[in-house]
Amino acid sequence: MRVVRTSKEFALSCDGFRSSGLTLGFVPTMGALHEGHLSLIRKARAECDRVAVSIYVNPTQFGPSEDFSSYPVTSEADLDACLREGVDLVFLGQTSDVYPEGFQTWVSVEKLSKPLCGRDRPDHFRGVATVVTQLLCMARPHRAYFGLKDYQQSLVVRRLVEDLHLGVEIRTSETVREPDGLAMSSRNRRLSPEARATAPRIYRALEAVRALALGGEKSVEELRRALRGRLEAGGGIEVIYAEVLDARSLEELPGGSLENAENGAVIAVAARVGGVRLIDNVLIGSEEILEASRRARGEGR
Ligand code: AMP
Repeated sequence: MRVVRTSKEFALSCDGFRSSGLTLGFVPTMGALHEGHLSLIRKARAECDRVAVSIYVNPTQFGPSEDFSSYPVTSEADLDACLREGVDLVFLGQTSDVYPEGFQTWVSVEKLSKPLCGRDRPDHFRGVATVVTQLLCMARPHRAYFGLKDYQQSLVVRRLVEDLHLGVEIRTSETVREPDGLAMSSRNRRLSPEARATAPRIYRALEAVRALALGGEKSVEELRRALRGRLEAGGGIEVIYAEVLDARSLEELPGGSLENAENGAVIAVAARVGGVRLIDNVLIGSEEILEASRRARGEGR
């Protein structure tokens, strides 16, 4: 496994793979690797001849009052994990190199960046879109791997790849969870024991509302109310948003009805638990919604 620290070495190493006719899979991360990250690495490993991982806590995706300075850094353990997973190349990004002196070029995915996390983190996706573009330009991989846990991010990345003709296949993976349902996240390390015990209620609330939807509840307003109610009952969870939106555009569903979710729906939550901001989501496919409507009308198969 090769470890490089400059964008130039990273690009050259990736060039080397490509010019030898090998397919390259790329997994961008901010480190503090856990099973969620490893699932992406394993998928890349299974699908590509060579796997590159970047580990870089990107400052431009954090707001001024956010947790950039306290974001967990576990470089040695991360490199060990990469080695164990058969990663070929690790890029340890350095800000002076990623953002060269005089830097002034941003990538902004306009509409998809506005709802959900874009509301309380207004510049977050500009930072994400910019660094992902930079990394994809350095690596020029055949495939890049992203987790559905950061669902909005995966849509933003798909959009920018298409809009900028980057020619990279974007692959996504299911959210990896702790046994009690909590979505794995580098930020979970910062939960106090009490907050850690509370946090799984987020996924339980998402699943309960997904079940309501599949049981025939079509009103988006009702589903949102149920979601917020479940999150807030019991205390300890401060809801930032609790939303049900079109799964492709992240826009409101026409007529406020799940029946109009032609692209499926995403049920998404951001919440603060013991001061730590957590996000999670579940998806409902358009077929599942149709099936639920049929059942509700007594036309079950
Ligand atoms: P991060 O290090 O948080 O920037 O995440 C790097 C990549 O890992 C992103 O594509 C995330 O969506 C993905 N990821 C983070 N947590 C999980 C998880 N629990 N399950 C699946 N993918 C994840």
